[in-house]
Amino acid sequence: MWKRFIMVKCNLCNQEFGRITETHLWYKHKMHFSRFIKQFPEVNIGPMSWNKGDTKADNPGLLRLSNTLRIKKEWNFSKWQREKRPVTKYKKLLKGGNLSELIGIILGDGNLNKHPRTENLRITRNSNDTGYIEHVSSLITKVFYKHPSIRKRNDENAISVDLYQCKISERLNIPCGNKIKNNVGVPDWVFLNKDYMRRCLKGLFETDGCFHEDLKNYTRCMEFKNNCARLRKDAHNILLKLGFNLQLGTNYVRLARRNEVYRFKELIDFRNYN
Ligand SMILES: [Zn+2]
Repeated sequence: MWKRFIMVKCNLCNQEFGRITETHLWYKHKMHFSRFIKQFPEVNIGPMSWNKGDTKADNPGLLRLSNTLRIKKEWNFSKWQREKRPVTKYKKLLKGGNLSELIGIILGDGNLNKHPRTENLRITRNSNDTGYIEHVSSLITKVFYKHPSIRKRNDENAISVDLYQCKISERLNIPCGNKIKNNVGVPDWVFLNKDYMRRCLKGLFETDGCFHEDLKNYTRCMEFKNNCARLRKDAHNILLKLGFNLQLGTNYVRLARRNEVYRFKELIDFRNYN
């Protein structure tokens, strides 16, 4: 099912891999992963690995380590950790198309959660959407300079893409927790640029949007359904700014004019992942 046979090329040495790794970049080119992505923002880093994101429940080695650490109250590096641990400063996220699309995806379909020492960004999709999952993972990597972990959920027919890092919410400017309660919306800077708006709409519509086509009755429409009022209003405003006519309902924003539906689909390059 997973497209493992697709090879990607390292932009620096043209060697082919299943996936460009941090290890390769450092040992061959003495280059950090983050610098590589900055230098080649459009690079395809290849599919993500499946074994990342092991937990105590499914990895006996991790369980052993965790038990040891729990019994030993002080571990070997505790003192060092207390005294020498550098304060990690997280860089501001680079404003641009990738970030605005990712924001659209998170607002539409993502979850941000706070943990005692870190934060978690999770996007869950149906397991059949492998192309889309790869697209989301690659966006996350380009925005945060870190590979997310991808896990197939045993219980459901779903795959989740997870990123753990500090200050995710603060840097994205999206609060953790319930999106409807927090009445989330699109950040102001997205409205400054047509391409940012287009990418943000792509993120929103590809997660919470759908395309209906009824060839028998010659009707087709593109609809964005969401229960957050501010988000519907923001999507509506962006569409107006990009010159579309729409219907605004109680929980949806809808494009129904035939030529506009197709223009819109093309504009955001709607779900073309295969
Ligand atoms: Zn290389």
